[in-house]
Amino acid sequence: MKEFQVDVAVIGGGPAGLAAALEARKQGIEKVLLLERDTSLGGILQQCIHDGFGLHRFNARLSGGQYAQRFIDQLDGSGIEVKLDTIVIDMTDEKVIYACNPTDGMMRIQCGAIILAMGCRERTASQVLIYGTRPAGVMTAGAAQRYINMEGYLPGKNAVILGSGDIGLIMARRMTLEGIKVKGVYEVMPNPGGLTRNIVQCLDDYGIPLHLSTTVTRIEGKERVERVTVAKVDEKRNVIPGTEEVIDCDLLVLAVGLIPENELSRQAHLEMDRKTRAPLLDNNFMTSCPGIFAAGNVSVVFDLVDYVSLSGEIAARGAAKYLAGKLPEHPQYRTVTHSDRINFIVPQRVELSADEDLTFFMRVTAPYKNARLVGKCGETVICNKRHQAMVPPEMLECTVKVAPQQEIYFSVEEG
Ligand SMILES: Cc1cc2nc3c(=O)[nH]c(=O)nc-3n(C[C@H](O)[C@H](O)[C@H](O)COP(=O)(O)OP(=O)(O)OC[C@H]3O[C@@H](n4cnc5c(N)ncnc54)[C@H](O)[C@@H]3O)c2cc1C
Repeated sequence: MKEFQVDVAVIGGGPAGLAAALEARKQGIEKVLLLERDTSLGGILQQCIHDGFGLHRFNARLSGGQYAQRFIDQLDGSGIEVKLDTIVIDMTDEKVIYACNPTDGMMRIQCGAIILAMGCRERTASQVLIYGTRPAGVMTAGAAQRYINMEGYLPGKNAVILGSGDIGLIMARRMTLEGIKVKGVYEVMPNPGGLTRNIVQCLDDYGIPLHLSTTVTRIEGKERVERVTVAKVDEKRNVIPGTEEVIDCDLLVLAVGLIPENELSRQAHLEMDRKTRAPLLDNNFMTSCPGIFAAGNVSVVFDLVDYVSLSGEIAARGAAKYLAGKLPEHPQYRTVTHSDRINFIVPQRVELSADEDLTFFMRVTAPYKNARLVGKCGETVICNKRHQAMVPPEMLECTVKVAPQQEIYFSVEEG
């Protein structure tokens, strides 16, 4: 087995990993190694050919590939070592990575610090429990996106989409543009799962119906999907008898949520957060294992790639502090608390001594109109920002100055 030693290893070459690796070098870290299992960099952005990426960071409407390319271009001459076609198969809490690729074979890499940037996975049919058979033609929205945008195949002719997450909405438009008849998007919840702009631009503009509080209850077909049954659900998500409707289709696209890619995090016994289903993070985006950091969708599923990149940079700055011995050996934390109108906040905890500007990401539990996001550190109001609308799918970002020792609390207030 080949042995390597690096200062920082970044696992995953998507937007989080790219931003983290570049920021690590900017922070003066000497040996930065970027490991990517795919044969090219960019992560999931490679298959996102629609625009709308980078509105915040670059004030431009870029495609996913164009956004990623802006970071990939900076790698030239940066001194960052990139290993493609390289999968990390194990990671220990001693900051040892085991990886392999066709050139080096098996590798043992001792790291000063590790930044996890492995992205997320899509939930599948078996995770949403739909009755019936499992014929060809049932796939996740990401798989359909890859077939159409990268492989050049049409995965069906008549599609039903289950779930109104952003990828599903974007695929409703994409499939329509490619000549697939999208018969409807069915969402079990009473509110859409995706951003309002995607509902308008991807469904309304193309006359694709969105059916809320409705789900797919059965899949039928022997070799290939032939039809699905949809039905209305009550507020407890129980099917309402008598509302069933059969829809002929040859493609069922599932856009039923994303889950952080947690295999390596679990192998290293990182403490996980129940709400984000990702490693518990501190203000440096450091996990419960000192020296192991997380960024991007592996740390919490973000809606905007701009935030993904920002989280990569925060984690890299944390790794630089860790390597310079500027983080306490045994950090003491205060938990960031919030009202029940907020579902979760990342990072979940802040070092007691932290006396600096910190960025927090959070999601609300229900839609609120003309409400204020209020943050307090002790008795001091550190954030009081009015939002015309706050909806659960949209991540709220807020950068505030925190003082040492004081309790940090966020709430959503009317008016
Ligand atoms: C299918 C899909 C489609 C999406 N489409 C859109 C969209 O249209 N618009 C939008 O705004 N957002 C979209 N998103 C959200 C998007 O994921 C984020 O905006 C952003 O790309 C996440 O960046 P990331 O770097 O955290 O993860 P990713 O972009 O997923 O990158 C993670 C990288 O880590 C690599 N990796 C994982 N495990 C290992 C390992 N063990 N060893 C080595 N490498 C590894 C992967 O190969 C991948 O390249 C989509 C997400 C998914 C899953």
